[in-house]
Amino acid sequence: MKTLDTIRVLASLLSLQRSQWWPAERIEKFHRDRLVETLRYAVTNVPYYRSFGISASSIASHLDLERFPILRKSDLQERAGDLLAAGFDPACLASSRTSGSTGEPTIMYFDRDCLLTCRYAIKMRKLFALTSPLFKRLLVIRALPVADLPRRKQWPIFAPPRLFRIEFKSLFEPLDSAIDFIEDYRPDILYSYPSFLVDLTQEYRSRGLVIPEVPLIFTSSERLTASTRRRIEQSFGARVCDVYGSTEFNEVAWQCERGRYHVNFESTYVEVQPDSSAADDRTGALILTSLQNRAMPLIRFSIGDRGCLAREACACGRASTAFEAFDGRDVDLVTLPSGRRVSPYVVEHWLERHPVVKRYQVIHSEPAKLRIEFTTFDNELPARDFEAVGARIREAVGAEMIVELKQVDRIEKEGGGKYQPVRREF
Ligand SMILES: [Zn+2]
Repeated sequence: MKTLDTIRVLASLLSLQRSQWWPAERIEKFHRDRLVETLRYAVTNVPYYRSFGISASSIASHLDLERFPILRKSDLQERAGDLLAAGFDPACLASSRTSGSTGEPTIMYFDRDCLLTCRYAIKMRKLFALTSPLFKRLLVIRALPVADLPRRKQWPIFAPPRLFRIEFKSLFEPLDSAIDFIEDYRPDILYSYPSFLVDLTQEYRSRGLVIPEVPLIFTSSERLTASTRRRIEQSFGARVCDVYGSTEFNEVAWQCERGRYHVNFESTYVEVQPDSSAADDRTGALILTSLQNRAMPLIRFSIGDRGCLAREACACGRASTAFEAFDGRDVDLVTLPSGRRVSPYVVEHWLERHPVVKRYQVIHSEPAKLRIEFTTFDNELPARDFEAVGARIREAVGAEMIVELKQVDRIEKEGGGKYQPVRREF
């Protein structure tokens, strides 16, 4: 990273620091203008969008967004080359490969401006909103093999003057190694998957060690349940900020000091598509449009996740679109023989009332059969609670499914180090 990049990140950060407080009308105008600009750019420069036969001059307002069909992950896999804008050489672009947990892996490309804004400046804005990171020690635990971890000096902000210290560890290293590192490094700010942090607290306790205080913890990549949040907060004495993001868009939304997930509206435009499984029209599948990435602009991309929009303005004063919660992945909805779709969080709702329960997984083993496996921290779930949880879940799912509840010793995470709440066996 060059000094010029550091200056560009800082300039972008200063701009983001101001725009986060824009009133709703100004954000709406920004979206109207930026969407028109993005759509015109795409139909002019991107072969995939050029093939729609929409002329740039016919795009007059942000409402023209609806003329663009939903872009699926399969389109991204099959037509990645056509989604690259003219004039960009993939060899000179930053790229990210998705883990492929919901299908074949895909590759995303980012131009330099997008990279500096989305991967660095937007992340830093969130940090500055919750603490002063200056001269603090950050530890980022990433789902990458040790050999692929970023080197510290790749961080543009790390160029002189050193504003804070950052270290990276791998999620795949043994917990012992993470504990030894944390004991030595004493991070002020920690970034990791919720399931990893829960495993870490258990390892600390089993080794009879005192868990160090970490004032601020960021979680991402998995659904953060209320009980997991409580455990992380209490164990580390931390404030927990959950972040919603994806490989294709980087960080999409983050939890402000009031607990709402604010969309990084400068880089991503969000639509919510309610469906029959949603409780109201504020909940549904997320459709995202990139407002920053000129190398590979994704328009109306169905990200495969679900969210619930906040009903009222947030008390923190930010007027950007905000979510009350994220509702997991679309593929995690269990389809019953009748066609009704049930969220796995019905299971979570009843299991997480019992603090001994550590993790659960809904295994859709046959079309009309669910096996719900769960692990506990130390003690078994008492027989009476076991029966009550089973009865509640059966009631919520309905008579068309056989539901078995089973306590197990271990629930494996998938290859990417993520814990998945639902697994389908047929
Ligand atoms: Zn807020």
